[in-house]
Amino acid sequence: MKYLIIGNSAAGVNAADAIRANDEKGNVTIVSNEEFNAYGRPLISYYLSGKVKPENMYYRNEDFYKFRNIEVLLNSEAEKIDVKNKEVFISGGKKLSYDKLLIATGSSPFIPPIKNLDLNKQENVFTFLTYKDGVKLKGKITKKSKVVIAGAGLIGLKAAEGLFGQVESITVIDLADRVMASVLDKAAADIIQSHIEQNDIDFKLQTSICEVCGERNVNSVVLSNGETLDCDILIVAVGVRPNVNLAKEAGIKTAKGIIVDEYMETSAKDVYAAGDCVESLDLLLNESKVLALWTNASNQGETAGFNMTGMKKKAPAAFPMNAISFFGLQLISAGIISSSKQDDIVTDSAENKLRRLNISNDSLIGFILINYKQRAGIYTALINDRTKLSTLEYDITLKDIGLDVYPKEERTKKIWNHKGGC
Ligand SMILES: Cc1cc2nc3c(=O)[nH]c(=O)nc-3n(C[C@H](O)[C@H](O)[C@H](O)COP(=O)(O)OP(=O)(O)OC[C@H]3O[C@@H](n4cnc5c(N)ncnc54)[C@H](O)[C@@H]3O)c2cc1C
Repeated sequence: MKYLIIGNSAAGVNAADAIRANDEKGNVTIVSNEEFNAYGRPLISYYLSGKVKPENMYYRNEDFYKFRNIEVLLNSEAEKIDVKNKEVFISGGKKLSYDKLLIATGSSPFIPPIKNLDLNKQENVFTFLTYKDGVKLKGKITKKSKVVIAGAGLIGLKAAEGLFGQVESITVIDLADRVMASVLDKAAADIIQSHIEQNDIDFKLQTSICEVCGERNVNSVVLSNGETLDCDILIVAVGVRPNVNLAKEAGIKTAKGIIVDEYMETSAKDVYAAGDCVESLDLLLNESKVLALWTNASNQGETAGFNMTGMKKKAPAAFPMNAISFFGLQLISAGIISSSKQDDIVTDSAENKLRRLNISNDSLIGFILINYKQRAGIYTALINDRTKLSTLEYDITLKDIGLDVYPKEERTKKIWNHKGGC
């Protein structure tokens, strides 16, 4: 059996691992257009700040591949899939045949239309998605750099944190009225923003960059509110788009992401897809969405890998979830954050702390926790299990909760499962 995987990151690596766990003999090949072995993408900002050394960036080291007899072709772009003849054309004129194929191509930065912006020409404009982006950026910054970051989402803020203390100034610009607008409400966003501001990072919200000035290097940016900012380094971090073209051009069904069934198989037989490049079922909204998260990509990759070996395993249902820290402030958000007014509960928002539970129809459907991380596992389980809150031992909005929130029988089951029982 020949297994071929395009993409060597969370989804691709976990698929390869699952394949090998079930098939010791088949050929497993991973094709990656990056020059590095699989690394922790969320670590790029820590590499930039110097907190994580290059040798600690790797998600899997060379032994992982060696001991599992997995071949990895780095610096190799999959250019075309021929689903009829079960072949993939690789850069440099190579052609690889497959019995089972996984597309785990992730996403690419979205570059908004900005007057005079040309990433191929301007040497001080960066995206922040790959380790290589981080290496190039680190090589370019100086103590005198005035950095402008377009985008106050997770990636833009992580880039800002990574640069802190190494440059003269950092200004983050976003069209929204708050940071991380897609996952936070205003109260939570304000806490995060003011904490980041205390570290000398400036925000300009409800505005956007409409023009950049400079030919080979951008030297200033013009904002839609009329302001002009000096700029030595521009980072574009306004969002990502799933890499669907390879699949689309092969005739595989795509929408925003590649369409897969619950076994992660695409519309083409024996072709699977997983991770940031696919659309999958959002448990809470009950609709197909791109959930660009590391855990989701890992779970989907593992499921795809199992199924490629002939098993029948359904991918776990997912919902948005972020666990992240900014300058030591812990933020965990999950599920649906916006809500109908009467159901939504906010408790304790003092001293850089916030707990917000979003309850609807007797179920927890979302939460935001700032510096409350110890309860996150239980809240997540309540959402995941669609637990009716009236069946619990006490009111989760009134009391800090632990496993004792569950009735005794349920509690025993959960402890037993947690310890690896059956
Ligand atoms: C700075 C940063 C911080 C993040 N922080 C978090 C976090 O805290 N929590 C969280 O859950 N998520 C976080 N994420 C998102 C997380 O990293 C992604 O959800 C995850 O990496 C998705 O994994 P994937 O395997 O689907 O795709 P990717 O990690 O994008 O990997 C896809 C791989 O395929 C390669 N590829 C694409 N096309 C081809 C081709 N044609 N041929 C060969 N190779 C190809 C790509 O180069 C890439 O190496 C962060 C992302 C970034 C950039």
